[in-house]
Amino acid sequence: MNKRAHNFSAGPCTLPLECLEEAQKEFVNYHDTGMSLIEMSHRGKHFVEVANDAMRLCMEVFEVPDEFSVLFLQGGAIMQFSMVPMNLLVPGKKAGYVHSGTWAKGAITDAKAYGDVYIAWNGEQCGYTRMPDSGEIEIQDDTRYLHITTNETIEGIRYPNWPDVGVPLVGDMSSEYMARPVPWEKFDLIYGGAQKNLGPSGLCVVFVRKSILEHTNSHMGRYLRYDVHESKTSMFNTPPVFSIYMLGKVLKWMKKEGGLKVMESRAAEKAGLLYDTIDQSGGYYSCPVDVACRSHMNVVFRLPSEELEQQFLAEAGQNDLMHLKGHRSVGGCRASIYNALPRASVEALCSFMSDFLSRNG
Ligand SMILES: *Cc1c(COP(=O)(O)O)cnc(C)c1O
Repeated sequence: MNKRAHNFSAGPCTLPLECLEEAQKEFVNYHDTGMSLIEMSHRGKHFVEVANDAMRLCMEVFEVPDEFSVLFLQGGAIMQFSMVPMNLLVPGKKAGYVHSGTWAKGAITDAKAYGDVYIAWNGEQCGYTRMPDSGEIEIQDDTRYLHITTNETIEGIRYPNWPDVGVPLVGDMSSEYMARPVPWEKFDLIYGGAQKNLGPSGLCVVFVRKSILEHTNSHMGRYLRYDVHESKTSMFNTPPVFSIYMLGKVLKWMKKEGGLKVMESRAAEKAGLLYDTIDQSGGYYSCPVDVACRSHMNVVFRLPSEELEQQFLAEAGQNDLMHLKGHRSVGGCRASIYNALPRASVEALCSFMSDFLSRNG
């Protein structure tokens, strides 16, 4: 195939074509060094420059205040499910978790291995079709932080308003990273795997409030400590050089396209096209999610029967509309429409959906 597929994969996912092509051009002989970037020392001047640029762009594009440091870690977002409580959950304190869906559940499961963890709001009763309002979140005494999953990738829900609960927030933002502005004053830490919006897998980007690093736990291996990574500018050990290099290219692209505000408004427009198609289908397509909490990144929808869903996915594939199958745990369909997915791909999906409805409705 020599054209680009419409790629709705939930992650790893579509990246900007120009970033891929630039990397391709530079790949074998990086800046006339006679070697590839992935073949040279991570402490040499070429890679150090790449890493510094990527860090600077992370802070700039995501509009991060100076009170925070950015860390490049490995182990994906799931590693943070453990590192957050290991570092932040000091003796005598508890952690509250909003149980909003599949990824929140993973974070809760891992945090329980490290301390006193409670569920501050449980979305199980509503089938994970919405996020809580601040007033529904129950914070207990001695709470060190409230963990939220800002966008549940599998259930397709996000917070329309940020929780306001009087304790610091920790956010798993994997699937809407740099797709909307963040009220930094509410957060002590934000993390996410790069492979949903920012680049290839193998890299987790963490923003940590510097002032908390004096009070984190330290009785554990050095790789597991935020303060160690921060003091070494994320060069404590060999970082994932290729992922960081690609992250830098994607961030440069985001900046050139207009930055966070543009990413946010494009996401709202793309999501709007799809939700309109669903809402105007007379119930043929249905989205189980509370309208106010509909994700702008992962649009989930069902057809009238599983047979029709199978047929829909098969025909979509024949039209280069790829990876529309919902997560195996929930079934149905899901279109992940991250920052780099062109609007034209969403338009192609919408017109396919209308066409499918007219043939099979
Ligand atoms: C994908 C995802 C994860 C898991 O990320 P890994 O990088 O694979 O560890 C965690 N949380 C959310 C919200 C996700 O979307």
